[in-house]
Amino acid sequence: MIDLEGKTLYVEKIADLPPMFKEIGAAWSKALEEGAGLSGLRQAIRERDVAALKEIWDRLIPIWDDRSFYDFVATSYAFADRPFQYREVFGQVGFGTGGWDSDYPNSMLEILRVVATDCDENQNYIVGGVEQVPRGLWKTSPPNIVHWPKGTTLESLHRGAPRPGVTRIDRAYGDKIAVTDRWGDTKLYDAVLVALQSWLLTTYMKCEESLFSPKMWMALDRTRYMQSSKTFVMTDRPFWKDKDPHTGRDLMSMTLTDRLTRGTYLFDNGDDKPGVICLTYSWMSDAMKMLPLPVEKRVTLALDALKKIYPDLALEKHIIGDPITVSWESDPNFMGAFKGALPGHYRYNHRMYCHFMQDKMPPAERGIFIAGDDVSWTPGWVEGAVQTALNAVWGIMHHLGGESPINNPGPGDRFESLKPLELPD
Ligand SMILES: Cc1cc2nc3c(=O)[nH]c(=O)nc-3n(C[C@H](O)[C@H](O)[C@H](O)COP(=O)(O)OP(=O)(O)OC[C@H]3O[C@@H](n4cnc5c(N)ncnc54)[C@H](O)[C@@H]3O)c2cc1C
Repeated sequence: MIDLEGKTLYVEKIADLPPMFKEIGAAWSKALEEGAGLSGLRQAIRERDVAALKEIWDRLIPIWDDRSFYDFVATSYAFADRPFQYREVFGQVGFGTGGWDSDYPNSMLEILRVVATDCDENQNYIVGGVEQVPRGLWKTSPPNIVHWPKGTTLESLHRGAPRPGVTRIDRAYGDKIAVTDRWGDTKLYDAVLVALQSWLLTTYMKCEESLFSPKMWMALDRTRYMQSSKTFVMTDRPFWKDKDPHTGRDLMSMTLTDRLTRGTYLFDNGDDKPGVICLTYSWMSDAMKMLPLPVEKRVTLALDALKKIYPDLALEKHIIGDPITVSWESDPNFMGAFKGALPGHYRYNHRMYCHFMQDKMPPAERGIFIAGDDVSWTPGWVEGAVQTALNAVWGIMHHLGGESPINNPGPGDRFESLKPLELPD
């Protein structure tokens, strides 16, 4: 269901969309072709032609780092001869997970990375949740284990539970790093990997300033986060699949709207099981509207908005259990959902991404590594966080005197030929 400017539109297939939506889709494809040569970029990715990919990408960096996504759309020839409403509707429903307009201020380079790698399409629902990945890693015993006895897992090394949150990171005895937890217990390590939101280094925790260069601090602290909010209710069953006897349509559908709910998503766990509705999944200003409100108020506001789209639906009669809500920006362990780089942030990202190459750094800055969503080139998409983890693993292995097997070089071994383009400061 698409609900814009008070008018609802029910579509089951892309083909059912009215011409304006198809024209917006075509304008977006044309804009990507004319502004970024998207098909060449995708072809190089498909063929795993790293040299061709790098050549195209290196040309795009200086052009699009300084300019926003909105600038890209508004100045493209493809949208230029179209009404303003096309940009507006593209912003509201252009993309399944909340509309594109919340990303309009972001650096166009970041949007191009997402689009070129198809992160915005063909998403899959993972039954049981993605949480299974970290839990799986925690319990996995690698088959080719060398240093530890066979059967060792991260869980067994930690005696079944992770250590408490970190509140201090300091240099100790020249080449060690001291990590202090929230209960004041300090342990020394040869290397430390920081994989959390970088703002936490200067807020939740005290991180010794000399561990990073001033240029790195500039990059870490300039990180800009997207705000996001979600509010969920549990329902007695996936009632939304019942058919409206008058229209023959589903009683309720995934809903994109310009009202304050913005995105409503339905989770069907089977006809005989409770369902879940994400009443509102919103970003940036729309998430800020929710920030000061308690969960009950968020639910009431969302139900009121949905009532205008589905006037005959008694959604509240199906709600069971207590609602759940999240605002990442109010969580002291996150402070924002994930990075959303602004125009001019390429250099900051470059410093963070390349930080795992430490041979030329002064000794005082070596041994601390960073990885995760904040270091990634594609924040908000887990692939990028995983890439940075692989880089950091290589960096730590190298720091501790290890090497990759000759026939399986790591990211640091290939760095000179693959390293991202450096822009002058
Ligand atoms: C609203 C939202 C929607 C998203 N949608 C998608 C999507 O559709 N597809 C996709 O691929 N990705 C999506 N992502 C991105 C994905 O979740 C991230 O890329 C991924 O979780 C990054 O992993 P990470 O290990 O870098 O960080 P995180 O998973 O954030 O892990 C960081 C960890 O550090 C912990 N921590 C914080 N402070 C401390 C401390 N002081 N001491 C110890 N630990 C601490 C935190 O509790 C947290 O567990 C989404 C993210 C959000 C917030």
